[in-house]
Amino acid sequence: MKKKIAIIFTGGTIAMKIDPTIHAAIPALNAQEIIGTVKNIELMAEIEVINFSNLPSPHLNMDMLMELYLIVKSKIEDDNIDSVIITHGTDTLEETAYLFDLLLETKKPVIFVGAMRNYSELGYDGSSNLSAAICTALSPNSRDRGVLVVMNNEINAASEVTKTNTLSLDTFKSPEFGPLGIVDNDEALYYRNIVKRQHINTSKIEKRVGLLKCCAGMDADILDFYIENNYKGLIIEAMGRGNVPPNLVPGIKRALEENIVIGLVSRCNTGRVLYTYGYEGGGKQLRDLGVLFGGNLPGQKARIKLCVILGFTQDRDEIKSLFESVV
Ligand code: ASP
Repeated sequence: MKKKIAIIFTGGTIAMKIDPTIHAAIPALNAQEIIGTVKNIELMAEIEVINFSNLPSPHLNMDMLMELYLIVKSKIEDDNIDSVIITHGTDTLEETAYLFDLLLETKKPVIFVGAMRNYSELGYDGSSNLSAAICTALSPNSRDRGVLVVMNNEINAASEVTKTNTLSLDTFKSPEFGPLGIVDNDEALYYRNIVKRQHINTSKIEKRVGLLKCCAGMDADILDFYIENNYKGLIIEAMGRGNVPPNLVPGIKRALEENIVIGLVSRCNTGRVLYTYGYEGGGKQLRDLGVLFGGNLPGQKARIKLCVILGFTQDRDEIKSLFESVV
């Protein structure tokens, strides 16, 4: 019997064409048209099509993501469905994929896919990416791997992958440890597993979590914005090993006094943050003030993680242990 895959369409370049009047890419293809670009799909699997949206990924807000999550969860819980594929704009794909990786507890393959070239461009990669995602979804080897991202015949873990290039077809990389596997000859081949995975059992998230990137010579004014606007959490993308300009420290103290949870990651592409430096603004001082350390996550993913944790618990020790674990 053929396996059944639910494919949920959300939009992105995979569903775009160049508009002849404005000469720029906009949403245009519907689900059936995208599926129609993959030859012999009906021989491989039974497909259930779910039209969620046809939006560029920067248009997807946190409420929409949670709405999408509930649909994915219901499909996962459906005994007739073997795996779920989500087509998604590549700009924020890693955030949605990581969000679902934290929230979902399932052995069924859940796979995100998109395209870097729209349908009007030579070499539209939507068809090859979608067919690779289908091959991955059908493989028994894809079970119990966490949420996966399949692009350019590479299989990456949602928890590790990031968009690294604005135009390249192989933009999705796991810079720290590399891909889990590849799709070759219509087969998903795995070379390693994720040892560290995290599941947080909630269907509620806290949306008021900000993200602030450090730069040379910055001062603390911006922190007052987060305090005055009732933010519950803030991720600071610090410099290097986890250090900030000294002028930021008074603002960090004010935010912590207002019970804003502050998580620290690095603006470097790879490597963990740690309390190595003892100078003013150094990681040791931040640690002693109560700033949490987010390992090697990029800022946008650390923010997702804090949104989930703050939706799950208000207990400070639990927040710290969840934020700092698996890093
Ligand atoms: N801007 C597009 C989006 O994220 C990019 C893409 O899908 O590749 O929707």
